[in-house]
Amino acid sequence: MKRTTGQNRSITRNWRPATQAVRGGTWRSEQGETSEALFLTSGYSYDSAESVAARFAGDEPGMTYSRLQNPTVEMLEERIALLEGAEAARCQATGMAAMTTALLCQLQQGDHVVAARAAFGSCRWLTDTLFPKFGIETTTIDSRDNAQWEAAIQPNTKVFFFETPANPTMDIVDLAFVCGLAKSRGITTVVDNAFATSAIQRPMDFGADVVAYSATKMMDGQGRVLAGAVAASAQFMEEKLLPFQRNTGPNISPFNAWVVLKGLETLDLRIRRQSENAMIVGRFLEGRVPKILHPGLESHPQHALAMRQMSACGSIFSFVLDGGRSQAMGLLNGLQLIDISNNIGDSRSLMTHPASTTHHSVGPEVRAEMGVEEGMIRLNVGLEDPQDLIEDLDQALRMVGL
Ligand SMILES: *Cc1c(COP(=O)(O)O)cnc(C)c1O
Repeated sequence: MKRTTGQNRSITRNWRPATQAVRGGTWRSEQGETSEALFLTSGYSYDSAESVAARFAGDEPGMTYSRLQNPTVEMLEERIALLEGAEAARCQATGMAAMTTALLCQLQQGDHVVAARAAFGSCRWLTDTLFPKFGIETTTIDSRDNAQWEAAIQPNTKVFFFETPANPTMDIVDLAFVCGLAKSRGITTVVDNAFATSAIQRPMDFGADVVAYSATKMMDGQGRVLAGAVAASAQFMEEKLLPFQRNTGPNISPFNAWVVLKGLETLDLRIRRQSENAMIVGRFLEGRVPKILHPGLESHPQHALAMRQMSACGSIFSFVLDGGRSQAMGLLNGLQLIDISNNIGDSRSLMTHPASTTHHSVGPEVRAEMGVEEGMIRLNVGLEDPQDLIEDLDQALRMVGL
């Protein structure tokens, strides 16, 4: 196995993102395969007992066990790091394994976290339910308000944790301000970048320390596998993340890593076309539904900020119907093309009612605090012809009297 011709880091780092997405991190075996090889192996064998001892001692390069290294997984990790502009990346089995690893690897009893109140349901479960068991305290704030980030800092604050855009309220965090504030106070920022991905938003360009992913979403992008990733500095990886990951084992399967490698080849194409489609569908819905939360539309209160940080709006937005849960469910039940599905980032258009699905477990009080209304619907716009999506939405809206 060796990196492809000329693929030393000093050259590959200068490639533009579209090139990285297709070629970054490619290694080739002696067979010279064009597509990345899938190493579905848990272990490795050695020429001699001395050689395995040297590998374990770190005196000789080479793999020892797939919880520690795997060539297919390492290709994906290199590619994600190059795309992110990060020194290093490590992959996990799911987005939640990535979030748990990125946070718990650096936190301990007595630490304090400031977190955005609008977050993926399971991310809220980590801060609200899991962390208190280990003596880690969290203050949740309105992440759109820069002053609240500053006001929530305590002497023991170690981490800022947020998504932007946030699921499903589409709250936007001012990356430059919040990451800058964290840096000036010695706090580590952990950004969940699932909605945008590095193809349209690179948090590290604004000073983020750690970027964590559900690669299940846009990176695979075709609804096939669960996957996660964490990108950070080489020092963070060596000192914080790797000791945790190597010993707790949230690793991704090489097969799933291979699928995500294939997904990354088309990430840029997909997210740009899906963003265009989301603009077309969003313009249709604006004026037809009482409220729309769409970072690409001027009606979004943080539209200007979103477009300063993101080069496209992404595939996901939300809207709210006045008739609460029953009207929202009526609309979902009337769909003929768009699927009722709580996944996002897929090349298929998918629609869900967050209050009864992704945000069911946080409970009604937290939903009210986050702004997840009973009439809210989240839409992931796929690669279908947007006119077909509009016709489907039009007939379903008519069925609920809109
Ligand atoms: C889906 C999602 C997660 C969790 O990812 P899984 O791959 O489902 O574990 C975390 N954060 C955000 C913003 C998500 O959309």
